[in-house]
Amino acid sequence: MLIDTHCHLDAAEFDPDREAVLAAAREAGVGGFLVPAVEVGNFDAVAALSARHPDCRHAYGIHPMYVRRAEEGDLDILRERLAEGAAVAVGEIGLDGFVADGDLPRQRLYFEAQLRLARSFDLPVVLHIRRAQDEILKFLRRLPVRGGIAHAFNGSRQQAETFIKLGFKLGFGGAMTYEGSRRIRELAASLPLESIVLETDAPDIPPTWGAGQRNAPDNLPRFAEVLAGLRGMPVEELIAATGANARVAIPGLASLRPVAPCCGR
Ligand code: ZN
Repeated sequence: MLIDTHCHLDAAEFDPDREAVLAAAREAGVGGFLVPAVEVGNFDAVAALSARHPDCRHAYGIHPMYVRRAEEGDLDILRERLAEGAAVAVGEIGLDGFVADGDLPRQRLYFEAQLRLARSFDLPVVLHIRRAQDEILKFLRRLPVRGGIAHAFNGSRQQAETFIKLGFKLGFGGAMTYEGSRRIRELAASLPLESIVLETDAPDIPPTWGAGQRNAPDNLPRFAEVLAGLRGMPVEELIAATGANARVAIPGLASLRPVAPCCGR
């Protein structure tokens, strides 16, 4: 089944037409959506999506680019919300060494605290990693979690192999549609099939055919086609395998119930 393992459906970009965006994705064949949170302020929004739609699941976490505006007590709120049991992962969490004013020391504090929460609730994590692959791997070796997804993976082969060893699947999406993304395309083509999941990261990371526009989950089937082309395999097989991988990475996705007209295709 086609599962968009990383999709910010709650984002303001979708306020005018959220239901239509979901409907278009279902029409295109997408059967499930994982919606990660980015800060305490959007926990209710992501939870409402999975409460309303049987093909949506959510994660709770504080994104590295949002730790600057996180307040004292937010980690306690996160703990309480995770304890409710509805979230299928801790995310989106990680480190972003790309943004110049990213306050890495503060990012590290939040990342470590959230890894500890993932461990105490035995939940997988959804990782945001930019210019911080090796440091994140160091954290994961010290504080192992039950795996998860390294979203929008853009590291080296060696880093990819280390994430896989630590129980992670690697997320591929819009970036692999660009001819210039040589390393990403090469990894997407050659990593073991069981280590790969599909994602859009909508509304971000638009593909070549939508450059500069809002990305949306109805692009996912075309991402599957691109990846199947890179790997030289039938797209149906690729969709089945990546969907199964998503459920291995995030066991809470096993309860996804696709909404017509997606299913049956
Ligand atoms: Zn994201």
